[in-house]
Amino acid sequence: MFWEKDIETMDVSELRELQLDRLRTILIRANATPYYSQIYKQIGFDPSDVKSLDDIQGLPFTSKNELREHYPYGFLAVPRDEIVRMHSSSGTTGRPTVVFHTMRDIDNWANLVARSIYMAGARRSDVFQNTMGYGLFTGGLGFHYGAEKIGMMVIPSGPGNSQRQIVFMQEFDTTAIHILPSYALHLLDVFEELSLDPKKDVKLRMAFIGAEPHSEEMRKKIEDSYDIDAFNSYGLSEMCGPGVAFECPEKNGLHVWEDNFLIEIIDPQTLKLLPDGEEGEIVFTTLNREGMPLIRYRTRDLARIYPDPCPCGRTHRRMSRIKGRDDDMLIIKGVNMFPIQIETALMKFPEIGRNYQIILETVGHMDELTIEVEILTPADDMRVYERLRGHIAEAIRDEVLVKPKINLVQPGTIKRAEGKAVRVVDKRGKN
Ligand code: AMP
Ligand code: ZN
Repeated sequence: MFWEKDIETMDVSELRELQLDRLRTILIRANATPYYSQIYKQIGFDPSDVKSLDDIQGLPFTSKNELREHYPYGFLAVPRDEIVRMHSSSGTTGRPTVVFHTMRDIDNWANLVARSIYMAGARRSDVFQNTMGYGLFTGGLGFHYGAEKIGMMVIPSGPGNSQRQIVFMQEFDTTAIHILPSYALHLLDVFEELSLDPKKDVKLRMAFIGAEPHSEEMRKKIEDSYDIDAFNSYGLSEMCGPGVAFECPEKNGLHVWEDNFLIEIIDPQTLKLLPDGEEGEIVFTTLNREGMPLIRYRTRDLARIYPDPCPCGRTHRRMSRIKGRDDDMLIIKGVNMFPIQIETALMKFPEIGRNYQIILETVGHMDELTIEVEILTPADDMRVYERLRGHIAEAIRDEVLVKPKINLVQPGTIKRAEGKAVRVVDKRGKN
């Protein structure tokens, strides 16, 4: 059941002691980085004064901006010679942010991924197909090393080439897969094109889905369509990549590996710390990293902590699924909403297909919200969907308080992104 029972089920007070011990070490180590040593001087901070986990609140937050400004080596805590790997985060604008790992960091990361997927039920007898991107993106290599540590046979298929993915699944009896949730839905279209049934014609039993926001309804759709268990995997390059938080078999929140990451939830406006249970921005401090310690890193991801213990026996606290990044929030006709809320309403309709997009336009001086959504089976006459359009519009209005226009389109019409799904096209002010 457990990859590392002692650590995973550690008494909470012992876990806090371990965290404090590691926090002290990491704060001292951070003093070796050009960036934090300068911050310590500016605010007169001495890491040896730290007596409790709360003392971290005396330190400023670190954000992507600082990573960019001090690119490339401003956060390095070891000589460059000790670095064995670089990764980069998937941001699309501006300078990239890069993260560096020592050999020990890579081993530790692999162990966290192994711990996560073992918790979900992966075993060495599994055949594991990794459809995430290999390269600068952490999803591919991160899972690859973790799965090998468990001893699974890894098929490093990488993304794309969907027909070949299915051929691999069939020929090598893939039982576990790592996949973007949006790609898992798209692959269903390809199964159909090949006249194959994902429930019967392949031996898949579990999927690790993550790297992009997705709703509980999306998970259910994936589980039902493939007849598998799907587990939510959360991580970000700045912490390591996948292996930061992961669902256990309870599928009710993601255990944050607190021996490695100190989690805080803050109000993104006031920057005040929020109590467990309240939703806000996740802030992480690396507790066990050599190459590049990060202190109070603002993820921009919104979630909350579940304060109650998990029936699985693990004591590491759980966080909710990610609602979105704070910059994903849409303001339409003055109303705030997140794409995942629209997805939640959409996924309840069995007629709905495998892709959707949220389009924002200005019509006159008003915002207009259009949801373009693929239907499941091709239709000769789209008029038969008149009633469905009305029902979907109402379901979305109930969820987000704005009534959208619904544009139903044929399967496969909406352009798919190469990597993480692009759900929102904001044309406001441009037409
Ligand atoms: P990257 O560092 O490029 O791998 O991107 C990390 C970001 O992807 C996170 O900060 C989240 O915004 C998003 N992300 C990763 N995993 C999940 C997940 N399971 N659910 C929602 N968003 C996720
Ligand atoms: Zn659990």
